Amino acid sequence: MTAYETEPGRLFIGGRWREAADGARADVVDPSRGAVVTTVAEAGPADVDAAVRAARQAYDDGAWSGLSGRERGRILHRVAELIRANADELAALESLDVGKPITLCRAVDVTNAANDYEHCAALAHSLHGAQRDTPLNALAYTRREPLGVVAAITPFNFPLILAGSKIGPALAAGNTVVHKPADETPLSALYMARLLTEAGVPDGVVNVVTGTGPVAGEALLRHPGVDKIAFTGSTAVGRHAASVAGEALKPVTMELGGNAAHLVFADADLEKTVGAVIKAFVFNTGQFCMGGPRLLVARPVHDTLLSILADAVPGVPVGDPRRPETVVGPMAGEKHLKKVEEYVELARKEGGRIVCGGERLDLDGGYYYRPTVIAGLPNDSRVVQEEIFGPVLTVQPFDSEDEAVALANSTPYGLASGIQTRDLARAHRVAGRLKAGIVWINDWAMLDPAVPFGGVKDSGFGREYGPEALAAYTQVKSVVVSLD
Ligand code: NAD
Repeated sequence: MTAYETEPGRLFIGGRWREAADGARADVVDPSRGAVVTTVAEAGPADVDAAVRAARQAYDDGAWSGLSGRERGRILHRVAELIRANADELAALESLDVGKPITLCRAVDVTNAANDYEHCAALAHSLHGAQRDTPLNALAYTRREPLGVVAAITPFNFPLILAGSKIGPALAAGNTVVHKPADETPLSALYMARLLTEAGVPDGVVNVVTGTGPVAGEALLRHPGVDKIAFTGSTAVGRHAASVAGEALKPVTMELGGNAAHLVFADADLEKTVGAVIKAFVFNTGQFCMGGPRLLVARPVHDTLLSILADAVPGVPVGDPRRPETVVGPMAGEKHLKKVEEYVELARKEGGRIVCGGERLDLDGGYYYRPTVIAGLPNDSRVVQEEIFGPVLTVQPFDSEDEAVALANSTPYGLASGIQTRDLARAHRVAGRLKAGIVWINDWAMLDPAVPFGGVKDSGFGREYGPEALAAYTQVKSVVVSLD
């Protein structure tokens, strides 16, 4: 029996599996075949209300928030161990749901999720306030306290990792959580509800409501019982979520869209650069907020790199995500495939030259698109400026370091960026000038739970991973004790 058949596909509220109040269910589609594989409950406002109430009750009864950081850390450590013990099933589930290559699911999604819970366990151990030196005749100290009920809303592309990057620090700090995964990819969230319970997380501390954004997501955003909103998704929905939170004066973290530039200087090691460039734009079939879809190349090496890419990219293995050699699987849904097709069509109209790819791959009825390289587009082209979120790379030349930085910073986004150079001084100088939450030098997608990531400009605000993430799930209280 496969993992998705063992999961109940119901809502997880107050430690119990239950159907939606109105009995609604939604299909879950395997993107590698375009076929329905199972259904899950579709939460309505009444279900969201029940989940928030369960989280509130669990918070107020202190069964979690009243534990010491070390006790919470011990349980989070067990979560990491359970993820590792169930790695094969979790990887298979994530691959089935999102269409990710199974090799990627094991090496990246499952591994990072386990590492993140382990990291959060350590953070829980080290949660502390500080005594403050003051001329008052008083003992003054700070306490780091949880915020209460956290609404975690996550996107379709890294369901396991991005749920963990919210639930992990939220739990480490003593909060309770209502998680709404993306409607397209809900399966690993339900699986994790079972593992969290098995690890010892008390009933009601983590609740999972599967459902659509406009109904379940909106009800969660607007629920007065929620104390903090942790959102990852598109800039458009994030803007809306932030405005709802602003009206209610609730703290938010916003992890939004990206459109990163990858700068290749003339002194770069071109052999290594090619690997990094391909990884940056095909990783997760280009459905990677921190992907590198905009390649900026110093003019002296522009044509050489373009012709190396023209040869290498068609050789990237695209196909069935269950095969271990597959590097690029299908897009996660038909609407994402159509969006990519529209952008490539637009590129043709805007005068772009399709160097390779530029079409679907017909395979088993799945949502496949060939990795595509486009040259010759002007910088103000929509294809360059907007987030395509597919395996598409645009390539532009530059003539100076200043021009490279200006082009890199010219979109509304600022999530990630990358530099290829052998010049150490240039690497650090340019890293400081790029408007982005993370800069990779001489490789791409080097991610670890100890290293914070997040956006500037339209890519959002707040950081996930690292101690910065824990700070976003706590508030400081000062206590001043008279010594008179
Ligand atoms: P999306 O914005 O469509 O959906 C994200 C989540 O919000 C989903 O759970 C969705 O159901 C929910 N939602 C939609 N409408 C809502 C509403 N009115 N109220 C409350 N919730 C609502 O994003 P997506 O298509 O799932 O994900 C892709 C986007 O996410 C891309 O833009 C990508 O760059 C971004 N992303 C950002 C990061 C990051 O760390 N910055 C990471 C991954 C993905």
